[in-house]
Amino acid sequence: MKDILNAPFLTELVRTCTNMYGHGWDERNGGNISVLLEEGDAGEYLDPAAVLRRIPTGFTAPALEGRYFLVTGTGKYFKNVQYDPAVNLGILRLAEGGRTAELLWGFADGGRFTSEFPAHMMSHAARLSVDPQNRVVMHCHPNNLLAMTYVHDLDEKAFTRTLWQMETECIMVFPEGVNVLPWMLCGTNEIGQATAEKMKTARLVVWAQHGIYGAGKDLDETFSLIETAEKASEIYM
Ligand SMILES: [Zn+2]
Repeated sequence: MKDILNAPFLTELVRTCTNMYGHGWDERNGGNISVLLEEGDAGEYLDPAAVLRRIPTGFTAPALEGRYFLVTGTGKYFKNVQYDPAVNLGILRLAEGGRTAELLWGFADGGRFTSEFPAHMMSHAARLSVDPQNRVVMHCHPNNLLAMTYVHDLDEKAFTRTLWQMETECIMVFPEGVNVLPWMLCGTNEIGQATAEKMKTARLVVWAQHGIYGAGKDLDETFSLIETAEKASEIYM
């Protein structure tokens, strides 16, 4: 078995968390990321039969049965991920129609997956239904996008048009535009379902007065989507 701390999927996630913290998008325990892993990739680094813990998820996601996810932990700080990946991150396999997460690695202090796990898993299922290449769901609190939701019309077409107008590149980077959810209580299945519904038509979903969700085929694409939208918001603001 290879050392998981050298796995490219792990080192890239660690670097991404550090980078996002550096951008000021993930204060305290803000932000969370989930990465869908190929079973074969995960199998090089861990024993798929060695389940450390079974954690109830509180939702169902039959489309994700048996899939492996690398996920940030609840209450964990992005700034600390690089110093102790095994405590701040975990690898899970969804079982029993998504009702149970089987922990295969990580959350070494007894922790568990992000409180936004429902929004992540439902978003993965939604994105995969329209794009089989999707692997990443990312949530964070970029200053300008968040601030913009206080002062701009939350109509999706209007919000998208403003972002496109701020920077020519935007229409190439997110031609499908951005979707917007009104303020909702976070950490619930309801906001998870609402986010997933919005994810069917766009890879960016703004949570008004809270932050943004992004999705993509890898960490670079997803980070860059948010980065570009945030830059356009900054110019607008
Ligand atoms: Zn948040």
